Amino acid sequence: MIAVPDIIIAVDGWSSTGKSTFAKLVAKHFGFLYLDSGAMYRGVTLLAMEKGLIGPEGIDEPGLKKALDAGFDLHFERPGDGSTRLYSGERDIEKEIRTMEVSSYVSPISAVAFVRSWVDERLHAFSVKGRVIMDGRDIGTTVFPAAELKIFMTASDEVRAQRRFDELVQKGTPATMEEVMKNLKERDYIDSHRETSPLRRAEDAFELDNSDMNLHEELVWIQGLIQGKFGILG
Ligand code: C5P
Repeated sequence: MIAVPDIIIAVDGWSSTGKSTFAKLVAKHFGFLYLDSGAMYRGVTLLAMEKGLIGPEGIDEPGLKKALDAGFDLHFERPGDGSTRLYSGERDIEKEIRTMEVSSYVSPISAVAFVRSWVDERLHAFSVKGRVIMDGRDIGTTVFPAAELKIFMTASDEVRAQRRFDELVQKGTPATMEEVMKNLKERDYIDSHRETSPLRRAEDAFELDNSDMNLHEELVWIQGLIQGKFGILG
């Protein structure tokens, strides 16, 4: 049998730049395992909300620490259709973690250092040997600083807000354009100004501004990189 070299592709960038759509497409096309690190942060946020550990008055950090140490069962499952879904125990929480309410609390929760190390540990455990593409905010800088290929995604505010709005409408999750834009800007600010693992472009990352690109063009763009770097034809 021919050995398949382990390869990690890190995809980071601003909120709603289409990181997960892009990463899923690349995973499918080149046979990589796709992992969505933002889903884990959203999962922690949803469980914290349900346990009353976050609300308009802020985060109950000691309570959250205790709950995480006692064990939040968050894991990915693959139903077999190529998708990866987040579960809490037996419960599929993929839809619940995408609501505006979770989006409004996820960045403050993600700024807590012990939450980040809890998530990082799991991300490493899920990235079993093989070929993995993971998207997030600090994959190329902190989670996998030695990733073989790093991409940093950007797009204009208007394009990003429209994309997120369309996604929410499609999923039947109500929100206004103003709420979506406000949430994007708040998350970008908190994510790039937090003390632990702030969002920033890794020096060795290739930048992809997809404001005026469609998915096919994005795929062609990365095909060149993957072929040049790893000799893998897709
Ligand atoms: O990728 P997504 O928009 O679903 O991520 C939700 C939030 O999770 C981000 O706004 C950010 O606060 C947090 N996050 C993070 N580090 C990652 C991935 C996501 O802080 N690697």
